[in-house]
Amino acid sequence: MSAGSPFGAWLESDPEVARLIGEEYERQVTTIQLIASENFTSPAVLAATGSVLTNKYSEGYPGARYYGGNRVIDEVEDLARDRAKSLFGAEHANVQPHSGANANLAAYQALLEPGDTVLAMRLDHGGHLTHGSPASITSKIWRFVDYGVTPASDDPDVPGEVIDFDQVRDRAKSEQPKLIVAGSTAYSRTIDAEPFRQIADEVGALLMFDAAHPAGLIAGGAHPNPVEIADVVTFTTHKTLRGPRGGAIVCKAEYAKKIDSAIFPGLQGGPLEHVIAAKAIAFEEAARPEFRAYAASVVANAKAFATALQVEGFRLVSGGTDNHLVLVDLRPFDAKLTGKVAQEVLDRNGITCNRNTIPDDPRSPFVTSGLRLGTAAETTAGMREGEMATIAQLIGRTLRHRDDAKALSAVSEEVAELCAAFPPYPGLVGST
Ligand SMILES: *Cc1c(COP(=O)(O)O)cnc(C)c1O
Repeated sequence: MSAGSPFGAWLESDPEVARLIGEEYERQVTTIQLIASENFTSPAVLAATGSVLTNKYSEGYPGARYYGGNRVIDEVEDLARDRAKSLFGAEHANVQPHSGANANLAAYQALLEPGDTVLAMRLDHGGHLTHGSPASITSKIWRFVDYGVTPASDDPDVPGEVIDFDQVRDRAKSEQPKLIVAGSTAYSRTIDAEPFRQIADEVGALLMFDAAHPAGLIAGGAHPNPVEIADVVTFTTHKTLRGPRGGAIVCKAEYAKKIDSAIFPGLQGGPLEHVIAAKAIAFEEAARPEFRAYAASVVANAKAFATALQVEGFRLVSGGTDNHLVLVDLRPFDAKLTGKVAQEVLDRNGITCNRNTIPDDPRSPFVTSGLRLGTAAETTAGMREGEMATIAQLIGRTLRHRDDAKALSAVSEEVAELCAAFPPYPGLVGST
């Protein structure tokens, strides 16, 4: 069994870990990956992440490090910063956040005093844990108030389950937040920074745009760029942007110093320079014309997927999508089917996705009534609209016949065939 990475041979010294990496590689390439926050990075990104840069301590920033020996590392981080700035048209970039959560924490720390009020999206309407969940340290340091989406609507002229900007404005006026956060983890529509900016200006608030999910769609020109509009933009590098696992921040020059010191020494110690090198690679890849085509395909695939899921009898929150994900409300399909059970049945049959709360979900966040399905990963593997329609049918069959072993084994076979036809790493040395 190979280790599924270009450095597979080096893992022979530890057969246990080599076996596990090999097994995970097999899982990734033989099942359908629909988790909206995942992707398949390039072999170049994998190689940089597994490089000797992991050995180096480089606390500080290029030209201002605490330890010696950082001549090369400075060039790596400068390259990553320059590429991030040019990709998003930003005045300043910080590429050190270990994750999207850390990027958000640093942005809050840079812009706020403890106890300040922040207006962000409700968690059960699509906000992220770092947008003030009671379980997150963010809610212990700052005072979070929330806005949500409009009620579901049967009238095609009244868009339902979209960000309720009247509510954003009302809440901003009554709560007087110091910061408004735009951005979501389970919202299938374009998030435009402009109306948020207007409201922020009306109440004298700062605006942070959390682009964790759409960063790749923005870089690829499929979604509007919030960088010139928001004061600070945070994002992850591993979702639609298709880079290594990590975070980054771009902002206006006036916040550069505050953002940098909030990351180090405010929140983190030594940066992960092997990951920063991989981020630099991903930023360059995302600037290529092929990536523009990729971002457009991700969106086109999601639209095709949405239509085919509706044909299967699923209701989609907000009625569709204009990004890389759909949020399925399972209740009209089968009132007894929970998100938890649907996720488990699909998982057993080779379709990987996650349960998700839907707006005003009557079930708990652990059980839920929804599924979140994304197209970013399988679009990287080469799937297009036709395959998305096939996957929608496979999902419908799996959930309809979830107690029929024969029907399920037919699904599993078709899943295996589909994955074999779209290998995400066709040329990878050491892959099977
Ligand atoms: C994924 C996500 C994050 C956090 O990213 P991690 O790298 O998992 O910490 C933050 N905000 C939003 C909106 C996200 O979707």
